[in-house]
Parts: sequence; structure tokens; C-alpha cells
Amino acid sequence: MSNLIIVGTVAFDAIETPFGKTDKILGGSATYIGLAASKLEIPSTIVSVVGGDFPKEYLENLEKRNISTQGIEIVKEGKTFFWSGKYHNDMNSRDTLVTELNVLETFEPKVPEDSKNAEFVILGNLHPLVQMSVLQQMRQKPKLVVLDTMNFWMDVAMPELKEVLKKVDVITINDGEARQLSGEYSLTKAAKKIYEMGPKYVVIKKGEHGALLYHKEDVFFAPALPLEEVFDPTGAGDTFAGGFISHIVKSNDISFENMKRAIIYGSNLASFCVEKFGTQRMEELSSTEMIERLKEFKKLTQYEITITQ
Ligand code: AMP
Repeated sequence: MSNLIIVGTVAFDAIETPFGKTDKILGGSATYIGLAASKLEIPSTIVSVVGGDFPKEYLENLEKRNISTQGIEIVKEGKTFFWSGKYHNDMNSRDTLVTELNVLETFEPKVPEDSKNAEFVILGNLHPLVQMSVLQQMRQKPKLVVLDTMNFWMDVAMPELKEVLKKVDVITINDGEARQLSGEYSLTKAAKKIYEMGPKYVVIKKGEHGALLYHKEDVFFAPALPLEEVFDPTGAGDTFAGGFISHIVKSNDISFENMKRAIIYGSNLASFCVEKFGTQRMEELSSTEMIERLKEFKKLTQYEITITQ
């Protein structure tokens, strides 16, 4: 039994970046979150759906990493969710070329019985009605609910998204999405508007420019590690969110101070995710590599300064 429920897509992705392109490879928001959790040694349970075309080996690969696939429904006659995106030269922006919902269109999530007491839930990028249904199936109010979403769902299901937000503790979104959700250009004003919608902690991801954590009047900023090579940013946001919640699960501490550390763990994992196409880098990542890079993060943000009057 795991203490972390992950809701999100398990998908096929086709990605194009200035460095090359892939055919359909393993992707999906829940996949990236689960991989991040496994790297911090947190067992998790994914609630999602795939079609009969989804390779059995992909599911076995997740299971092998302590990511339970019990909650992944397989619709034999259906097709797996497919997403295709193309990155611009700066790698910070992308165009979505295709979003085929397929089996997601009629998906009714089912949380496995023995996971209904989980204390931590991450509602990864998926239809807000699915996110809501999962929360309603939990036997007790989770200790922490984190929600990640994207502009796609704001465009097609904003009222439903606003309903789920009322039940969420932390939201992680990128800067453009924070502006779309709040109608405010200033991210500080946007965060304040978002508090009123439900989440008391607002994490704003800014890609290669780091991430901000807002809570009441407090704000914390963590940079992203300046990397020499970025091959494919797909899944970086999900990996970040997965690292964030997994650190909180591991430490069992939902204070603002600990969330600052969680942001660093999330940023650390995301910095690896972008180094190769798809899930490849996350799959092969070792704990020694993670620790070494955490040291780099520490160095990057530490300085001595004497403040005199
Ligand atoms: P990220 O780069 O962190 O935004 O996540 C990219 C992943 O999200 C890809 O693996 C896609 O399969 C998945 N994805 C793309 N669009 C959607 C969507 N509308 N809903 C859920 N997942 C999506």
C-alpha cells in the first residue's frame, strides 16, 4: 500500500525539439510524477487509463519501480492518450501539435480500495472532473493535496477546475497559466488571487528561470540549474511536481520551510529530466548523481553578505 496517489495521464508522446524528434514514446503527467517519486524512494499508486495499444512492458517497468499500476484501467478496445509537441529554439516555449484524448474521453477513475486512506494526493495534469472524482473517493481528507494543471484544461474546463481548486492545498502551474487563471499579469498579484480560489500555497514554475513559492505574505525563489544542454523539456513540470510532493511525503512535514526544500528537490529532479528525450534520463538516474547535483544547487544559491546600517 502506498501513501501517495498520483492522478494524471499515462500517454504516448511524440516530441520535436531543435535536437531531433521521436516517434510515439512513453510519456504522460502521471508517468513523470511516478518516476520522480521512485527516485526519492516513495512508493506510489497511479490512477489513470490506457488503451489496448499500450505495451505491457511499460506497465511492468513502472511496477518494477514501486509505482503501482493497479489503478490504471486498460480499455482493450480503446486507444491511449496521445500528445505531440514541438519546442521552439529557446526550448522555453512549445506548440502543442496534437492532443488526442482517446480513452480519457470517457474515463471514470477508480482509486484502488487499499489506497483510499493515502495521506498525500497529487492531482496531475488531467481533466478537473477526474481530479475531483479521485478526491471524492478518498476515505478521509488527505494531509496534503497538490494540483498541477495546464492551459488546455483552463481553456476547456475552467468552471470545473475552479471547483477542484477549492479542495486543494498547493497548486503548481507555470507563469503563463498563473496569469490565465488569475487574469493578473503580476505574478505576486496572481498568487494572491489564486489563494482566494482555494490553494494556500502557490508554486509558479518558470522553466529555466526557476520557481517561486508563495504563501500568505511570504515568497521563496529557487533558481533552475544553468545547464549546458537541454534536449527535451517534456515532463520537466511534472517531474518537478513529483519531486516536490515526494520530499514532503518522505519528511512528513507540510510546513512552509519544508516546502522550500521540496522546491529544491523538485528542481533538482527536473534538471535531469530535460537532459534526454522523454523519460529516458529519469529512468537511468542514480542517487549519486542526484546528491552531487543537490550540492551544486546549494552552491548556486549560497553567499556571504554583511549588511551594515
Ligand atoms: P510537461 O512538459 O511537464 O507539461 O508535461 C508533458 C506531459 O504531459 C507529456 O508527457 C504529455 O503526455 C502530458 N500532457 C500533455 N498535454 C496534456 C493534457 N492536456 N492533459 C494531461 N496531460 C497532458
